[in-house]
Amino acid sequence: NSFENTSYDGPVGDLVHRLTQSFISEHSRPPQWIVAAPGRVNLIGEHIDYNDGYVLPMAIERYVAIAAAPREDEDSRVASIRSVNLNERDQIDLNDLPKPSLPPKWTGYMGGVFAGFQDRVGAETFSQIPAMDVLFESNVPIGGGLSSSAALEVATATLLEVVSGVTLGLEEKALLCQQAEHDYAGVPCGIMDQFSSVFGKENAFMLLDCRSQQIRDVPFDSDHVSILITNSNVKHELSGGEYGLRRAQCDAALKKIGVTSWRDVTSDDLQSKRASLSDVEYSRACHVVSEIERTRKAAVAIESGQWETLGELMYASHHSLQHDYEVSCRELDLLVELARGVGRSGGVYGSRMTGGGFGGCTVTLVESDKAVEVSDHIQNQYKKQSGIDAHLFASLPAKGAHVIPR
Ligand code: ADP
Ligand code: MG
Repeated sequence: NSFENTSYDGPVGDLVHRLTQSFISEHSRPPQWIVAAPGRVNLIGEHIDYNDGYVLPMAIERYVAIAAAPREDEDSRVASIRSVNLNERDQIDLNDLPKPSLPPKWTGYMGGVFAGFQDRVGAETFSQIPAMDVLFESNVPIGGGLSSSAALEVATATLLEVVSGVTLGLEEKALLCQQAEHDYAGVPCGIMDQFSSVFGKENAFMLLDCRSQQIRDVPFDSDHVSILITNSNVKHELSGGEYGLRRAQCDAALKKIGVTSWRDVTSDDLQSKRASLSDVEYSRACHVVSEIERTRKAAVAIESGQWETLGELMYASHHSLQHDYEVSCRELDLLVELARGVGRSGGVYGSRMTGGGFGGCTVTLVESDKAVEVSDHIQNQYKKQSGIDAHLFASLPAKGAHVIPR
């Protein structure tokens, strides 16, 4: 049995088929292993992952798929890797893994996972991993805020599992990948991206408590509504510095409020401490406290199929991110306004920016029957008003990282 002779349906099917063909034409033999790991979108709970809040993401039907086969004619133990998307080739020496170096290159994201994997399984087991040819391709937009980086890390960890025969715990795997992102990409991210890519389930959102790292599945199997993702195709460069600044402002506000966790702050507490906070700190705090509450309510709304309520929570989240947390931008605001303009009668329940902000994507809750019309309208109007082509697609909650069977 080999990948060439098997047909694959579902969201990874095309990717697996293409990758198999590319691998064969490049290496004159089929891959021995193929793995895939998804990107993610966060429905609500933004900028509270590092504030002890909740996030409510789902893995999306967009994947990084990696194909590999051992290379027998080699003395040196090297993984020779090519990214189809970037058409770039690089290699990782398995006897001498790369050290972190900035700015990060894609080989760094993978190298960071190789290093973390070696630490966990031990040098002895790691030394069993052979020289390999590796080819990977992704349909997660790169740098679009849907976490192509976590998908690449988690796919890499999954490849190492199948090649070495050692399966990590799911949480262990996600944390290993998060560590790679911290150390090798220099991005101090929370746990959402890697957890989503590892734990993603069809038919469920994931309510992730960022304080306890506990996951509660929130079943979502409605035919009535769809999740529409819109890539604004802009990325304003201030995001790095602004992220650090928001974290510092939240920490300062929390200290003045006099508790150790945002989970212990109610809106009444916030009002009673209003005078001790600067205006900026107060605004940031308003976002954090209200967004934690909205995220809890959103999970309940999904469980009971209250789409109108969920939509309102999404609009309110956007408003708070735009005015109190100040991490939106004109293009994201435009996309949300266009969705709002379509309104309930046109099939839209709610919309908001998703991810860190200053560009990237919005997420919109739409009636499935009207999703195509809504996308066309948003795309046309966005182009007309901003001059930019948006990229839109719908996704259901998707299955997390997995090995593709031969
Ligand atoms: P996001 O995770 O939102 O897509 P990041 O900036 O965190 O954006 O990660 C993007 C980086 O991940 C790219 O610059 C590249 O280094 C790496 N990457 C992700 N997917 C691929 C791919 N298919 N090919 C090569 N590099 C990739
Ligand atoms: Mg990323």
